[in-house]
Amino acid sequence: MPNSYEIAVFAGDGIGPEITDPTVKILNDLSAKSSGYSLNFTAAPAGAAHYAETGESLPAASMETARNADAILLSAMGLPDVRYADGTEISPQIDLRKALTLFAGVRPVTVRPGQATPLKIPAGKEIDFVLVRESTEGLFYSQGTGEVSADEARETLRITRDISEKLFRFTFDLARQRRRQGRGPGRVTCVDKANVFRAFAFFRELFDAEAAKHPTLTADHAYVDATALWMVQKPWDFDVMVTENMFGDILSDLGAGLMGGLGLAPSADIGLEHAVFQPCHGSAPDIAGQGVANPFAMLLSAAMMLDWLGVKHDNEDLRRDGSRLREAVEAVVAKGTVLTQDLGGHASTNEAAEAVSAVLVLEA
Ligand code: ATP
Ligand code: MG
Repeated sequence: MPNSYEIAVFAGDGIGPEITDPTVKILNDLSAKSSGYSLNFTAAPAGAAHYAETGESLPAASMETARNADAILLSAMGLPDVRYADGTEISPQIDLRKALTLFAGVRPVTVRPGQATPLKIPAGKEIDFVLVRESTEGLFYSQGTGEVSADEARETLRITRDISEKLFRFTFDLARQRRRQGRGPGRVTCVDKANVFRAFAFFRELFDAEAAKHPTLTADHAYVDATALWMVQKPWDFDVMVTENMFGDILSDLGAGLMGGLGLAPSADIGLEHAVFQPCHGSAPDIAGQGVANPFAMLLSAAMMLDWLGVKHDNEDLRRDGSRLREAVEAVVAKGTVLTQDLGGHASTNEAAEAVSAVLVLEA
């Protein structure tokens, strides 16, 4: 069937299955109501619990499901007490990122009405920007293989033309899409440390070359230290930021802090062909099995997935349902009556998800 999309679903560990179930249900309901597209879901077993049971954290069949899918929806994987024999953490999401070359880590930072933030936002200003973190090289390139002797340790920072060109092209396209949606002026900021490191001067040079191809978008630069300051002092001034892997790792946690925590922080890891959509939070084993996990970050990640599929396949219905789902979550947060405990309420996971469904049905 045309406009039918395959979604690989990694329900994962801990609270993963609890937030995946209502999310898939809402996506199913949206797709059932739409004449413009349909979604088919295939479960992909993987993660720490799966490893404990079978000795495999990412079975070949699940990898195959992910490769063949149009998009991948993932909750959270890993558990503190389950590790590989060498003691390292089980994180198949990182294996997926590497195997599928998902170079762009997309972290939207938004603060909507009703959302707790440690900042005082001036009237008329709104926090709504996106951080794009390169996710396959940078200072994570030598991860696990750094050289260590008794007196010295070294890691490698690697910036390649190939990945950087793809990353910047993606980022400028994203800024254009956001402008089309009325979510930003079409501005991209390259965050680096080009004054000190040659690798970052190279990064900036490649950024400038891409910027020259987009005369209708604005491009500028900022040093990472100044960016950390401005993210606290005037985050409403940012639109789209793009940066190296380690800088992005740090700044995205700062972004989650601005959003009042992890409960409302979605993310995507995107490559040329494939993309994984998952909440920023982990598997939260401390509250697993109680039915109290907040499903909103997962639902917002699912909304990003619909939007990405809609842009990729030029499907207006998918894009519209992506916006509707995001706005429905925002409406429930703004109303403030049905919230899970992490947001100061006492609703269950299912009650919170049903409140989102109710908004979607009312609008339909
Ligand atoms: P990881 O290493 O996988 O990122 P983590 O140890 O950083 O995991 P999380 O699993 O994200 O941590 O949990 C951090 C805290 O936030 C925990 O107290 C957890 O219960 C809480 N938390 C995380 N996600 C949710 C959620 N969806 N709903 C409610 N609480 C959550
Ligand atoms: Mg963590």
